[in-house]
Amino acid sequence: MKYTNIFDTHSHYADKAFNKDRMELLSSMPEEGVTRIMLAGCTAEDSAKSLTLAEQFPFVWCAVGIHPNHVNEESDLQQITAMTSHEKVRAIGEIGLDYYRKDDNKDLQKKMFRAQLELAKSFDLPVILHIRDAIAEGLEIVKEYRPRGVMHCWSGSVEMAKEFVKLGLYLGFGGVATYPTARKVVETLQWIPSEFMVLETDCPYLPPVPFRRQRCDSQMIPYTVERIAEIRNADPQEIVDICCENGKKLFRIP
Ligand SMILES: [Zn+2]
Repeated sequence: MKYTNIFDTHSHYADKAFNKDRMELLSSMPEEGVTRIMLAGCTAEDSAKSLTLAEQFPFVWCAVGIHPNHVNEESDLQQITAMTSHEKVRAIGEIGLDYYRKDDNKDLQKKMFRAQLELAKSFDLPVILHIRDAIAEGLEIVKEYRPRGVMHCWSGSVEMAKEFVKLGLYLGFGGVATYPTARKVVETLQWIPSEFMVLETDCPYLPPVPFRRQRCDSQMIPYTVERIAEIRNADPQEIVDICCENGKKLFRIP
């Protein structure tokens, strides 16, 4: 184990990509230095599966929510609401706007985003935000509700990063930081004050270099951290420690 205290603040271990080895893989996390994991929900069903996983591992917590690519019926929102007061549920997410994959249902996306921001407010929970190709509209809605939370998988400009940090939001950094095309992420990492950074994978997606096109998992975070340390001219373990503290504060996790 090279690092300790790794907190993966965004993962999808309920995903079918982990069907063959989910329990063994999660069990092996602490000995690989991954001491905390937050699962993000995409649908009511996925959120329920995540919650079941969180109940089985003391170092795993979860967010429940409906991803903007999966918005549909109100019944899903009722199921999400019913899970919200569980002690392992520490956030509402991932929620937001995504016009990259689908932009013919903008009104429905916005409606569900607002409903879930209100849910987070009423349960005093932070939100995990997924905003893609909709950053200006997303920012307007976030300004209205002023939630606590994190902008997951930051890939925007440093100017936009400043807008979200001004609102007290954390930014999540993952494997994308290692990609040669990640110019904006690098610029954001050169600027961002360390108290607003958290680490994440979005696994099974977005593995860092040199694992591209493989299934990602939290044990790959050291590769992301070493790239971030290089960009910020800092010590990797120190970054891991600061990000862990930030994540604990954000999600009120021991
Ligand atoms: Zn995600």
